[in-house]
Amino acid sequence: MMQNLPLKTVVLGTGGTIAGLAANPAKSFNYTAAQVDVVDLIADLSTNTASTLVTEQVAQVDSKDMTHALWHTLALRCVYWLAQDDVQAIVITHGTDTLEETAFFLQTLLKPKKPVVLTCAMRPANAPDADGPQNLRDALVVAAHPSASGVVVVCAGAVHSARDVQKVHAWRLDAFSSGGAGHLALLQAGVLQPLGSFHQGHVATASAAALADLSRWPAPAAWPRVEIVWSHAGAHPGALQALLAQGVQGIVLAGTGNGRVHEALLPTLRQAQAAGVRVVVATRCADPQLLLADDAPPEFPDAGGLSPVKARIALLLELLATHV
Ligand code: ASP
Repeated sequence: MMQNLPLKTVVLGTGGTIAGLAANPAKSFNYTAAQVDVVDLIADLSTNTASTLVTEQVAQVDSKDMTHALWHTLALRCVYWLAQDDVQAIVITHGTDTLEETAFFLQTLLKPKKPVVLTCAMRPANAPDADGPQNLRDALVVAAHPSASGVVVVCAGAVHSARDVQKVHAWRLDAFSSGGAGHLALLQAGVLQPLGSFHQGHVATASAAALADLSRWPAPAAWPRVEIVWSHAGAHPGALQALLAQGVQGIVLAGTGNGRVHEALLPTLRQAQAAGVRVVVATRCADPQLLLADDAPPEFPDAGGLSPVKARIALLLELLATHV
């Protein structure tokens, strides 16, 4: 019987500052990310989680260098572990730089029923005031919570949805925000104070069925090319034209304000869309919700309130779904 199996929480290490080391711990802003194995991060942690912790080092990278190939590997490891009856949750240690992208990629692709909790740190593991251990403890608390489900991010005592979370600060410990959408829950002294349901049914559902069998995906090097182009004062269409010449398949236009596009970019953008390149308009505003007109269809589809980097992932997965 299933209920007799001892439950496991699997902690997947990918690197980041949480696994970083400073040459001089007293000057912990000067450090190298991705040095400490996840098994050692867990060994140093005092935690009283009821489940057995299993660790796996999936990668050891500074997440500024995250690749599609590593996302593919990580997704495959999540699929493997989530399919085990005795695994109740996954915790992923990750760098902060692209954490919101990995979280959104995994949620949009896998839509896991079990919790997948990404956590991180802003200070390296050997800093005297390292924040990683408490973030990891908090992540394990969230992973064990009966109403936790889907991919969430835990940092500095807050639980964020994969859809809304963004890194908003370069050095503060509380570096993440979910903007106007707000966080899902808070942790006070390691105890969870839920604000509502953990469920994230609002994350885009397109592509999921077609992409379910990851083994049928093309190699990451052959994934569709989707790029972000910014609209800004003094915009010039040259970069956009170069992308078209290189055969880009999708463009996320990070527009100003309510997803507005500089007039200098419009002709090339129209030309791209007419040529079959998928164009989606997001906003470069930190809080990416858009106010949509309900009277006429927009010239370019909008990103549905996703930030430009997440709109890029959503479009990438949508295009990928047509290749498998
Ligand atoms: N560059 C680091 C990373 O993203 C930053 C961090 O983890 O805070 O891996």
